[in-house]
Amino acid sequence: AKASGTERICYYDETLDDAIRAQRRMIDEMRHAIANDEFELHYQAQVRLPDEEIDGYEALVRWRHPTRGLVAPNDFIPAAEQTGLIVRLGEWILRTACTEASRWANALPVAVNISPVQLADPHFVSKVKETLRTTGMDPSRLELEVTESCFIGDNPWANPALQELKSLGIAISMDDFGTGYSSLAMLNSFPFDKIKLDKSLIDQVHANPKAKSIVRAVMSLGDALDVPILAEGVEIVEQLDYLRAEGCSLVQGYYYGKPGRLTVADASAGEPSKS
Ligand code: C2E
Ligand code: CA
Ligand code: CA
Ligand code: CA
Repeated sequence: AKASGTERICYYDETLDDAIRAQRRMIDEMRHAIANDEFELHYQAQVRLPDEEIDGYEALVRWRHPTRGLVAPNDFIPAAEQTGLIVRLGEWILRTACTEASRWANALPVAVNISPVQLADPHFVSKVKETLRTTGMDPSRLELEVTESCFIGDNPWANPALQELKSLGIAISMDDFGTGYSSLAMLNSFPFDKIKLDKSLIDQVHANPKAKSIVRAVMSLGDALDVPILAEGVEIVEQLDYLRAEGCSLVQGYYYGKPGRLTVADASAGEPSKS
């Protein structure tokens, strides 16, 4: 049957309602999930070149959902950000990363992703300090990964907040460099401790001359600024070979290991594990 204009509007409104209802349901479920301990952190090794020693781990959150299985962050972080629930989830993530990492026998650093919504919270710095205090985590073993979206919009706190955290000994990394969310201007406005070159540029680096040139230019930018560059999403030896040849000092990706649960025993052996 042919729908009339009003029917079409009606249909559209219903799907919009459905989407809003689905998001509300998800948010209710997430609140419950935080209380119910359904989230867990998986850790992915960051590997130093040329020696291939593990330099630290990035914490990546997953939701062990009672019926849907292991849910990836891209499926729940956006809703958590839109509703502000990321502030509470982010506190859980930071506390858990600090608690778990402070038990690792290898005492390697842990990198935690911070949402722009968390950084816009005026209490963010005091919450981080409180977490360090209650977990006994050494601030020099903590690294926070931020993207450019942390600084744009009306967030006058971002820069001074990160400066203060840096003064405590916490390292601040620019995540997703080379995408729309992380630009050159950002590098000029904050003294980052590490630049994470986005996977989209690494994907093509073994095959595409343009990607090669861009990655080479970023490596010399890192040299000039004296900031280490970490290449994200390294999957195959050909990508690694190119990065090595260009003097890249840190890599992370499936080539060395997928994110996994890291037990105390694994950490003492210095090996990432899959679960
Ligand atoms: P991201 O911070 O850029 O994290 C890197 C993503 O690439 C992770 O996906 C990681 O599992 C994946 N990855 C690493 N190496 C490879 C590789 O060789 N090949 C491929 N195909 N993928 C690789 P994940 O864990 O699904 O996380 C996706 C995004 O969700 C993250 O991107 C980050 O933006 C967000 N996220 C994850 N955990 C957290 C968290 O604890 N807090 C916040 N605020 N955001 C998080
Ligand atoms: Ca990250
Ligand atoms: Ca990234
Ligand atoms: Ca990302």
